[in-house]
Formats: sequence, structure tokens, C-alpha cells
Amino acid sequence: MQKTKTYVSDTVSRLQPSGIRRFFDLAASMEGVISLGVGEPDFITPWSVREACILSLEQGYTSYTANAGLWELRKAISDYLARRFEVLYDPANEIIVTVGASQALDVSLRAILNPGDEVIVVEPSFVSYAPLVSLAGGVPIPIQTSGKHHFKLQPEQIEQVVTPKTKALIICSPNNPTGTVLNRGELEQIARIVAKHDLLVISDEIYAELCYEEQYISFPAIAHMRERTVLINGFSKGFAMTGWRLGFVAAPKDLAAAMLKIHQYTMMCAPTMAQYAAIEALQNGADDVEQMRKSYRQRRNFFVQSLNEIGLTCHMPGGAFYAFPSIQSTGMTSEQFAERLLLEEKVAVVPGHVFGASGEGYIRCSYASSLEQLQEAIRRMKRFLERL
Ligand code: PLP
Repeated sequence: MQKTKTYVSDTVSRLQPSGIRRFFDLAASMEGVISLGVGEPDFITPWSVREACILSLEQGYTSYTANAGLWELRKAISDYLARRFEVLYDPANEIIVTVGASQALDVSLRAILNPGDEVIVVEPSFVSYAPLVSLAGGVPIPIQTSGKHHFKLQPEQIEQVVTPKTKALIICSPNNPTGTVLNRGELEQIARIVAKHDLLVISDEIYAELCYEEQYISFPAIAHMRERTVLINGFSKGFAMTGWRLGFVAAPKDLAAAMLKIHQYTMMCAPTMAQYAAIEALQNGADDVEQMRKSYRQRRNFFVQSLNEIGLTCHMPGGAFYAFPSIQSTGMTSEQFAERLLLEEKVAVVPGHVFGASGEGYIRCSYASSLEQLQEAIRRMKRFLERL
């Protein structure tokens, strides 16, 4: 019998696949490509962390953990947040260990949104925010930041889009894709406006460990913000643990309890062996993180300076491992630029428009690659620009 209807929900039908994927697939089908496309560390997880996982398996720790995560890990997260970022969360009922920061974002949004609630998304942004808002029944409301301000959110932009339906604002500092870091003064300005409109802030701090110049300020450390913040963090970026799928969310007790209900029915718990590894990462990983941070800083300095020298204007990003240069001088769209650069010089970058409308005219280049690879990428980009 002929199939006459789709079983796919309207919400999912409306979702667009991530624009990054197309370039990955194209790059994967070619030989000799230098990929500046992927958003992940090029380091292997530190050995002591891998060893802690192996040890846990040897000891036979292969069953479920508590829904919220191993007590020892939640305690380690609580100590780490206090030591590193001066924010206090009770491991008993304010921290949940999740399957990556991705799941932490998902449970946060599902725990707070009623159908039609609006969530402000500051663009250019991580590609998952708007789809996750939609999947949770909410409506993503974009704010476009500008290269003119190094993609820093201007607080009055929040006022321009707030409505009675606005429930939350998602911020991400250091930012993916721009590398922009918000300083204390800027966070305080945002804090004043969210307090005025009684908004919740979902603060994605997954790149907090990768901050190069300024001291990192965690949003809940700003006066009176802890009670209206959901803090998202994880192990993927700073600890080079993307494949372990481990993150966490820290939030006031009532919100954490709501999230735990979703987490226990949908996930049960995060992977047990990864949780044992994460304890080691938090308790003894600081030197490894510092080594990686130093290495990224060195590569950032080389790469961003070189981009400017070959004619692609780029602000110096304060954190993460992304450069976000302008390609407007070429007259091409970011999609045309990325496609031609890949086909003609075999360098994969991500066109800026996939991160939101204000990303058009820019490309995202991840500098989490060896210096040699970055040097070669710059040679190829220079040749490409000279030919135009
Ligand atoms: N948040 C941002 C800003 C990211 O860039 C990413 C990954 O690229 C994530 C969250 C998801 O991280 P995880 O691997 O912990 O799910």
C-alpha cells in the first residue's frame, strides 16, 4: 500500500540539518584536506584520565550510577566550581552529571519551557541552541551581534527583543564560533537587564578553561545572578574529552530537581566509566589543561596574526579555539568562499552563516590543529586569495 502521510512531527520536519555537516562530508570525501572545520581539541585525553577509566573497568564498576551522577564526581564538580570560578553549588541537589554539555542544554530547556515561551539566542551562536529551543516547544528569538563590536552582545539589544513571553537568554562566553569573551563589566550590564525583566540565563561555559587573556568570570558569580542562572559546563573542550560524552549542569535546587526528572526518565545516568575518568580530570588534571591552554594560545597568536597579514581581518579572540575572520573583502558569500577554498586549496572551514545571519561575511576556522598544519593552511589560503 502507498504511504500517504509522514510520521515525522511538524517540529522535526521544520528543523534544518546542521550546516556544518555538509562541509564535513565533502571534506571527508577528498584527499589531503586540512580541516579547520571541526570544533574539537586535537589532543588526546590526558593519560591519567584514561588510566582512571581503565582502573574503574578493572574494578568492575560497570553498573548504573545515581541518576544525578556519582556522589564523588558531583563533589569534585562542586569543589572545582568553587576553586576555579568562585561559584558555590551543593553536590547533593544542585548538580547533575549529563551526557555532554549537549544534554545539559537539552534538559535545561525542557525543564523551563512552556509551549510558545521565547528564548533569546545571541548570534552568531553554537548551532544547537535554536533547534534545542524548538524541540523543547519554545521559540528561539535571535539577537544579531556585529563584527564591529567583536560580536559582543550589546545589552540594549536584549531590551529590543524582550516580550512578556521571554523566559530565558542563552549566553556563551568564550563563544563558539567567534571566540569572544565577555568581561565582568559586560556581564554586569547583562545582569542588570535580565534582573529587570526577570529572565533566566542559561550560561554555556564549556570553553571556560580556554580563556587566554582575561580572568574568566562565570555568570553566576555576578551579584544576584546565581538564583537566575543555569550553568552549563563539561569535559569535552578544556579536558580534551569530546568522545567521553560527559558534561554537567549546576542550578538552584528547584530547577535542578526539575531537570533531574527529565534526566532520570530519558537518560538514567551518564556513562559510568566516563564519570570515573572525570573525577581524575577534575582532581589532578589542572597541569594538563594548562599545557593545552598554552599550546592553543600560541597557535591562536600565530594564526590570527597570519590571517590579518594575508588580508582576512580578524579580531583577536579571547578564548575557545576558533578564529572568525571576515571574508567580506573578497565579495563572496561565506558559503561560496568555504566551498571554493575547499575545492581549490583543500582547506576546510565553516561558513559563518550557519551560526546565524550575522555570521554571514565570516568563516569559522578552528585552530585546534598542529602549528605545521596551520602554517600550511595559511599558505594555501594566501594562494587562494592572491588568485581571486
Ligand atoms: N556548547 C558549545 C558552545 C559547544 O561548542 C559545544 C560543542 O561544540 C557544546 C556545547 C557541546 O559539548 P559536549 O561535547 O559537551 O556535548
